[in-house]
Amino acid sequence: MKILVLGGAGYIGSHAVYQLIENHMEVVVVDNLETGHRAAVHKDAVFYEGDLRDKAFLRDVFEKEKIDGVLHFAAYSLVGESVQQPMKYFNNNTYGAQVLLEVMNEFNVNYIVFSSTAATYGEPKTIPITEDEPTLPTNPYGESKLMMEKMMKWNSNVTDLNYVALRYFNVAGAREDGVIGEDHSPETHLIPIVIEAALGQRDHVTIFGDDYDTADGTCIRDYIHVEDLINAHLLALDYLIKGGTSDVFNLGSSRGFSVKEIIDTVETVTDIKINRIIGERRAGDPGRLVASADKAKAVLKWNPTRTEINQIITDAWNWHSNNPQGWDDK
Ligand code: UDP
Repeated sequence: MKILVLGGAGYIGSHAVYQLIENHMEVVVVDNLETGHRAAVHKDAVFYEGDLRDKAFLRDVFEKEKIDGVLHFAAYSLVGESVQQPMKYFNNNTYGAQVLLEVMNEFNVNYIVFSSTAATYGEPKTIPITEDEPTLPTNPYGESKLMMEKMMKWNSNVTDLNYVALRYFNVAGAREDGVIGEDHSPETHLIPIVIEAALGQRDHVTIFGDDYDTADGTCIRDYIHVEDLINAHLLALDYLIKGGTSDVFNLGSSRGFSVKEIIDTVETVTDIKINRIIGERRAGDPGRLVASADKAKAVLKWNPTRTEINQIITDAWNWHSNNPQGWDDK
């Protein structure tokens, strides 16, 4: 099997490439290196630098490589930024997916596992969130991903395309062997930000609001280890290849932690005290997002094993403390 990984130089995509290669797949990576890192791409993957919105470039990759299936990670993913710059999100995420699907149709490539998000639900009515919860995004990021899901659905009705959309909750951690990990600049995600504060790279962590309707007033999120998350992609690919029908699955741990609890856990793991300041709410942030991952467990036979928040933070800390400046390509 030859798998095209779009965004394979990014945090989540690079972890996928490693697991695919360990599972004896041939891997082709496309990444425009806008946020990804060349050094994060496994040495056994074939690498093309380019943008998926560039249809001629993408056609060329499909022409040269005989692609059997696609894992699509190449998208912008920052809630706050999407509120400020919505068209940036619709252009890269939604239009990018349109170009990809057109080229997949043209080359008759019919399997795609797609990174969707809990942000498609908006402010959910029921916790834990199941896949039949209404999708009412509260920010352009979630809207752009929902539009991508809908494009795949309508396209699959009239083509041979089969897709799995995986709605991620909060992805964190790194490979246990520490060879790859998370490196965004600027960093906006909570766990790496708190770790940067523990490393002395930030003076404090700002908690975005402590007046939410939660026990300690800070937002609750469901954190999932990147290695468990990627394992679900491999299972989803296998499900499609074996004839599984197109579907949507949540990927989370079914447990929520508040912002304060995450900071407390980083303090426990690192034995370093972290300065915290209470700030304003961040636009577009729902108060509580916790997944029901029962469907992925039942249908895909997904069995996440790195579910302890201490372990997720320990693996993230391992990467960051050994690579305090991240990838050496800035
Ligand atoms: N958060 C925070 N301070 C920060 C970064 C994030 O309080 O410096 C909060 C944010 O408001 C959200 C949670 O931490 O409630 C997780 O945010 P993140 O950006 O990591 O992921 P998101 O839930 O937006 O996908």
